[in-house]
Order: sequence, then C-alpha cells, then structure tokens
Amino acid sequence: MIKVGINGFGTIGKRVASAVLKQDDMELVGVTKRSPDYALKEFAKYTKIYGVNQEFAKKIGEVLPVEGTLEDLLKDVDVIVDATPEGVGEENKKIYEKYNVNAIFEGGEEHELTGFSFNASANYDEAKGRKYVRVVSCNTTGLIRTLYPLNSEIGLEDVKAVLVRRATDPLDHKKGPINSIVPELKFPSHHGPDVLSVIGGFNIDTYAVKVPTTLMHVHVVITKLKRETTRDEVLKIFSNYPRIYIVEKKLGIESTGQIMELAKELGRSRSDFFETVVWKDSIYVKGREMSYIQAVHQESIVVPENIDAIRAMFGIADKITSIKKTNRSLGIIDKFN
Ligand code: NAD
Repeated sequence: MIKVGINGFGTIGKRVASAVLKQDDMELVGVTKRSPDYALKEFAKYTKIYGVNQEFAKKIGEVLPVEGTLEDLLKDVDVIVDATPEGVGEENKKIYEKYNVNAIFEGGEEHELTGFSFNASANYDEAKGRKYVRVVSCNTTGLIRTLYPLNSEIGLEDVKAVLVRRATDPLDHKKGPINSIVPELKFPSHHGPDVLSVIGGFNIDTYAVKVPTTLMHVHVVITKLKRETTRDEVLKIFSNYPRIYIVEKKLGIESTGQIMELAKELGRSRSDFFETVVWKDSIYVKGREMSYIQAVHQESIVVPENIDAIRAMFGIADKITSIKKTNRSLGIIDKFN
C-alpha cells in the first residue's frame, strides 16, 4: 500500500483524494487545508485532516478534529500530491525535500520544477524511480490524449489547435469574464510547448480564447499527418485508445452542457468526465489534413493521470495494469478487453 497525502484540497485535490480512496493499492493518510468547509467535513469521515500550518490547523480545529500540520502529514506518507494553486508548489517542494517525500505536482507548476511531465498513455514507464513528477494541465492532458494516439498510429507533422477555455471553475464566483471573450494575446500560447514536454517529433502551435462558461474547455484541433488517412481509421484509433470518449449529434450531444448531463447519466462521482470527449461528427479528413473538435472537463481530466503517476513512480504496476485499475475504479470505459 502506497501511503498518499494531499496538500491543497480544492478542485483537483479533493478529486484526487476521492480517487485514492477507491484504489486497493493506496491508502489516503490525510489531506491539508487552510479553512474548514462542507467538503472537508465529509472527508473527515474517511481520512485525517491537517492544517497547512499551525495557524490553519488551529482554525480548522475550532470546527473539525485536526491531526496536525502539513509537516506532520509528511512524516507519515510515501508521496504527497501537491494540488495547491499555481506557483505554490515550487515553494512547497523545499518542504518535501526536507522530509524526503516523493511529490506529484500539477500543471500550474513549470515543467522545470520536476524536469519530468507525465501522461499515462504517453510516458508511464519513464516515471519509474522519479522523486518528483508533474502531471500536465487539463488542456495539455486533453490534447495529449488524442495527439499521442495519432502520432503513434499515423504520425503527426504539424498541429494547430484553438483552445476555447472556460472562464473559471463552477465553484469560483469571484473570477470572470462574465460577459466578454478574452483572447490570449501571446502567440502561440504556452499549451503547445507543454504538449511537447511529454510527446514530440512534430510541430504544434496553440491559440487560446477565454469565454464566459464554467463547464468545460473545447479544442478545435487541425493536424497535418505524415500520410493520408480516412475518417474510419481515425475513429478506430480514437475508439481503441484509453480515456477518449466519442459522442455524436445523433445521440443528442451538441454542446458541453449536454456532455455534463451525460456525466450525470453515467453516474460519475461529482458528475465528472475524466475522458477527453471527441465529437464523431467533427472528424474531417482531406488527404493528409485531419481535424476534429474535443471537449475537456477541466475539473476532473487530470485525476486518473494523478493515480497512474503514483503507481508509475513507485513501479508497483505496469502501464496497462495501472490504467485498467484506475479506469475501473472511476467508472471509465475499459478498452483493453
Ligand atoms: P484550487 O484553488 O481549487 O485549490 C487549491 C487549494 O489549495 C485550495 O483549497 C487552497 O485553499 C489551498 N491552498 C492555497 N495555498 C495553499 C498553500 N500554501 N498550501 C496548501 N494549500 C494551499 O486550485 P485547483 O484548481 O485545484 O488547482 C490546483 C493545481 O491543479 C494548480 O496547479 C492548477 O493549475 C492545476 N489544475 C487545475 C485545473 C482546474 O481546472 N481547476 C485543471 C488541471 C490542473
């Protein structure tokens, strides 16, 4: 049993914590937080609660039982998942080093913090034995889920992707935009290079606009392949690779709202959609050019990758075994049978 701690119990942290609870080869030792809330109260039934430091431990302790601080938690875990806000992980790494604890960081941190960025399908085996692993962001994970299969099976020469990004997460009432479309005016955006921190051998340029929605991101992906292909071949590739879910207009999925509704029908915890969702209707092939449109549930897409990253760094399961275990535990359709 790998003993896991979660530092930062927000959108990503609480989902990774729930997923750890579902694994038979991991134990959730505890989670840290700065202030109590209903989600923490629920979790106190399943794991121990720690304050980020003495001040926050005292604050939480007024409402819920508290075990101690982050530093106490670190004495008791094999790996800490750092799900703190962008940039905080860099500071935290010094504390993890002090306690000689393995750490997983999220996509808000720079690749350079760990020197290794992770996606389960693309580079699982390379994580083995590493002390620090970074799971790439939601947009980057979404792109790699479909680009890695295309590159492996057909070969990519060039990728252009327009990322229509959600404004913020549903919980966050303080951020926007609420009535504007905001283009990212740095061209190309940082997402392309981030994809290349995991897979390579092709050119990629990404462009991003932020829109007033909280549900999902949508990517319009335009590729130039190394050889000609057909719609059927692309569909077959997407159908065979893990964590890609194909939807179509014929079955009533024309929008991100309907995808989120589908997550509820599937009975997913928190109505999460862990897969990259590709619209079958959008797959368009013209010789070596191929394009498609996909949607990414930003709150949950990186959750299965965090679980696989834990197994990968400790070498406790091979890639297929880990992906299968994680998928089954989260209700993701298994494509390996
Ligand atoms: P969040 O703001 O929802 O949660 C962060 C949590 O960390 C909060 O509970 C906050 O109180 C706590 N926190 C703040 N400072 C802390 C500190 N010094 N020590 C410990 N905890 C602290 O953030 P999030 O959206 O879950 O993002 C976490 C990481 O995941 C970031 O790197 C982000 O870029 C990445 N990520 C976010 C999304 C997303 O869409 N939300 C998707 C993929 C990856």
